[in-house]
Amino acid sequence: MTKTIITVAPNGQWPNKKENPAVPYDPEEIAGDVVACWERGAAIAHLHMRDEHGNGSLNVDRFRQTIKIIQDRCDIVINITTAGLRGASNEVRIQPVRELQPEMASFDCGSMNWGNKNVFLNPPDFLESLAMVMLETNTKPEIVIFDSGMISNALGYAQMGILREPLHFQFVLGVRGGMEADVQSLMYLRQAIPANATWSAFGVGKGHLPILLATLALGGHIRVGLEDNLLYAKNVPATNMSLVERAARLVREAGREIANPAETRAILGLRS
Ligand code: ZN
Repeated sequence: MTKTIITVAPNGQWPNKKENPAVPYDPEEIAGDVVACWERGAAIAHLHMRDEHGNGSLNVDRFRQTIKIIQDRCDIVINITTAGLRGASNEVRIQPVRELQPEMASFDCGSMNWGNKNVFLNPPDFLESLAMVMLETNTKPEIVIFDSGMISNALGYAQMGILREPLHFQFVLGVRGGMEADVQSLMYLRQAIPANATWSAFGVGKGHLPILLATLALGGHIRVGLEDNLLYAKNVPATNMSLVERAARLVREAGREIANPAETRAILGLRS
């Protein structure tokens, strides 16, 4: 059976140190967590940047600085966000991919209401431009799916030839406005993607463990980290390292093996 890829998402755009002081903001902090998570079995780092006040940022220099520190210390696969700053223009969102040419980047495959305050905008012109740049830079899109209709967007882009198969999907369950973090939703999404696609899934908040366990049972890849979940257990704050350690332990307990970065590059067909 294919080995299991663990992605760590150390900070995201929204979690802050008031909620959990372990959320990393600065390049050194983020890189330190990523390297410690790689030592514990993470093979992909999904990176967001923060500005000097801890707010979401798509600053190319901060990405560059963080990635350099990480790559000086380990061979983890770099996956950068193309969201991460509310209201950013298409160009600001695409620029880090164009300039840094990461191995992977997120491709949020449709728009949705995010909770009851924001609209998460990923309109067609943005997705088409982003897909073209990812083709040029040979960056593998991590096709992020919050709701089932987003899969039909992805399949349409594959048909147009701007998403190259085999596709790689990341199912995000439990965001208000998207699909629920339950096993039925996961089962539905999994059978809706092409047979040759690879997939990973995670639940946010209290959906974290149920979706992690169900994903392992179904043979998918997994993602953990403070972007998605600030608690290790009820009233117990998480760290990125504690979440990766538990995930690695559960992978092994499930009788699976953990993919290292080189194996991850082969499984996902990344350039190497
Ligand atoms: Zn993210």
